[in-house]
Formats: sequence, structure tokens, C-alpha cells
Amino acid sequence: MFAFFQEFSMSAVKLLLSCLLFKEVHTLSGNFWHITDLHLDHTYNLTDTPELVCASSGKRPAVNAGKFGDYACDSPWHLINSSVYAMKDILPDPDFIVWTGDDTPHLPNEDLGEDKVLEIISNLTHIIKQIFPNTKVYSALGNHDYHPKSQLPAGPNYIYNQTAEMWQDWLEPESQVTFIKGGYYTEKLLSRTGFRMLVLNTNLYYDQNKLTTDMDDPAGQFSWADHVLTEAANNKEKVYIIGHVPPGFFEKKRNKPWFRPKFNQKYLDLIQKHHPVILGQFFGHHHTDSFRMFYNTEDSPISTMFLSPGVTPWKTTLPGVVDGANNPGIRVFEYDTQTLLVKDVVTYYLNLTRANAARGRWEKEYRLTESFRVPDASPASMHQVLESIANSHCYLQKYYVFNSVSYDLTECDSDCRVDHVCAAREVDFNKYKCCLEKEGAVAIHAGLLPVLSVAVSLVLASR
Ligand SMILES: [Zn+2]
Ligand SMILES: [Zn+2]
Repeated sequence: MFAFFQEFSMSAVKLLLSCLLFKEVHTLSGNFWHITDLHLDHTYNLTDTPELVCASSGKRPAVNAGKFGDYACDSPWHLINSSVYAMKDILPDPDFIVWTGDDTPHLPNEDLGEDKVLEIISNLTHIIKQIFPNTKVYSALGNHDYHPKSQLPAGPNYIYNQTAEMWQDWLEPESQVTFIKGGYYTEKLLSRTGFRMLVLNTNLYYDQNKLTTDMDDPAGQFSWADHVLTEAANNKEKVYIIGHVPPGFFEKKRNKPWFRPKFNQKYLDLIQKHHPVILGQFFGHHHTDSFRMFYNTEDSPISTMFLSPGVTPWKTTLPGVVDGANNPGIRVFEYDTQTLLVKDVVTYYLNLTRANAARGRWEKEYRLTESFRVPDASPASMHQVLESIANSHCYLQKYYVFNSVSYDLTECDSDCRVDHVCAAREVDFNKYKCCLEKEGAVAIHAGLLPVLSVAVSLVLASR
């Protein structure tokens, strides 16, 4: 009888343990969506005149226009709708959604206006709310979420006010206060002790923003963020930072930064000072798929900024960028719910050409750990990814195709390699310049090596 009880209680303990272990494993991993740069073009219409399909093409012909859009245009409503439903199909119950702005089309200011900008923000807010009614959304403003574009003020204004009202279900009362003041806020991540979300308005640092040119700390955001992160360290919190315009350089155009130099430096200082509590940075604005590394003074990787691809396929008009379009992309981040470590990144996309020709199908483009053979997406692993890209043409080419969300399948040559590697490696303006010189010299050396060896053997043969 005793033996029976002993055996019974042992099995009960085993069962209990396995349940606990299962729960442990089960609750360790979480996931969230990151969407960015939806850029709805409300003028999109399928006419027979390719130049008139959409206003955002600026008279460039939309030669492959279909109901999902065209590479010369911003997103038609059908594409926006399809992307949000794809999110619902692929991962219907994420822990939360990160949405990093740019809702309106690339149009001259005179063709938009305050009301139109607010109407578009409202349309996108509405569809996300409708399809994910019970999901917490952390939402940052983009430079196109204001009129006139990129001129986001360092103080209260009508648009911050109206947007705060639209997003009131997503914002805690204290968040509404700072959002109305400067377009930024912080909250405990999912109201959980020990975890925090910091939502920045980095449009204040954008070099196109004329309102903040002469300021040292627009809207007091830097000192506020410094305070929030200091408190986070005191309270043993882990933090994610989200925003729209990233620091550092555009990887598709040499020497093209977005921030004013003083703001770029301040942002770097902020990350370097507080990196132990920052577990990830998630930004947009590029429309491309890339990342930025942050290092300490000993050159150890301390943080990564993930730049997620846009939903809009719009070919950029930025001079010097050749064929800068992309396929629409959306992205899932998998993370450790106990530490906030980013475990993996899965990108989904719509091949626009195929979608227009047949039925639109969103599919997995790639999983970071599989494609780049790293254990996770920690700063150390992302440093390893960058080294692979820098040193192996095979990995460089793979990264390059993903950079445009499998739109541009051409070869990434040696100049292209330098642009992408240095943009990812160096957020600091001076270090970026040094990187261009160093990597450029490596490229020239590599190119000259076969020529030199032939010359040397000819010299030797002639002796
Ligand atoms: Zn954008
Ligand atoms: Zn932008």
C-alpha cells in the first residue's frame, strides 16, 4: 500500500514538473509584429494612362499597375488591407504590435494638408484596430505623419493632439501627456513590471526639420529619455526603443545621413550610456531591410537597431539611388519574454509582380537564424551576421536581395558592399567616413591583387 502511494506520488510529482517545465518553455518565447511605412496613396486608380495611376509616382509611369499596387507608387488601399489581413492570418495573436509611422503618400505639401494627413492616419489606425481589437499597439510618428511633411514641432500642436485622441485606446494617461507635448511616450511593456517600451519622436532630429535646427534638445526628449533609462536601470527594467527616422547612414546612398550631426552624436551617447537596459531598437523610414550595430569603446557589440522593410513598394526619388523600390514587407520578432532578448526575426513579403498577375499571396521571405546561421538576434549574433556579409560574397548577396525584400536581384558589387557594410557597422559620422576609406581600400586591394600577381610573375619570369 505504501509502495503504491509512493509510486503514485512520484508520478504526480513528475507530471507536475513536466507541466511546469512545459509552461516555462511555453512562456519563455513571445512574438510581436513590426510594421512600418504603409504610405497609403488614396489617389491610386487603375487607369489606362500609366502616368496617372497614382499621384505619388510624380508622373513616372506605373507600367505594372495592378490592384496590389505598382513599384512607382505608394500603397493602394487594397495593399494596406491585404497586409493587415496577412498579419492576422500569419500570427493572429501577437503579444503586441509595433508600428513606426509614415502613413501618407509621397506628395507635394500643397496636395495634402492637415486634414488629409489626419484622415489617413485615422484610416490606418482604424483598420489595425478593427483587425486586432484586443492587441496593444505601440505607435511612433513618422516624418510623413505631419503637415507640412517632416516639420514636426518640438511642442504641442493640433496634429499631436488629434493623433493622441485617435490612439487613446493604445496610450496610458501619462503617455498622452508627453505625446501631446512632444510626440513621444514610455510605458511598462504590456503593463508588466520589469519591462518597458520607449517610443521616440526622432523626426525632431531629422535634418529636413527646419523647426529644430537651432535647438540642443528638441522637446526635451533626450533629457527625458536619459531620465527614463536611468530609472529603468534603477528598477532593473529591460527596455525596447522604437522610432521612425534612424540615426546613421542610408545604405543605398553613400554619405547620406538623416539626423543632424549633433543629434546623431547625442543619440549614440544615449545608447552607449544605457545599453545594459536596452534590449532592442526597432525603426523604419528606409523602406529597406537592414540593421545598425552599436559598439562600446572596446569595439564589443552592445546594441542592434533593426530597420524593418516598408509596406509601400514606392521607388525612391532620392538622387543617386538606382532602382530603389522594394516588395511590401511585414515582420515578426520572436523574443524571450523573461529577458527581452531578440531571438529571431521572420520577414514576410508580397511579390508585387506575382500578386498583380495572379492571386496575392504573402509568404515567408526568410528567418534570420536560418539564413545567416546564428543562434539568435543578440548584438553578438548580429555582429556575426555583419562579419559574414562583410567577408563572404555569398552572404553579402543574400543580405542584398533581402535588403529590397527580394525586389532587386542584381549583383552587389564592391562599391555596393562598402556602402552596406559601413552603414550597418558605423552609426557615428566620423567612423563611417573611416570605414569607407578602409573598406574601399580593401576593395581596391582585392581588385588589384590578381593584376599584381600577374605582374610579379611576369617580372620573375623575365629574370
Ligand atoms: Zn517612409
Ligand atoms: Zn520616413
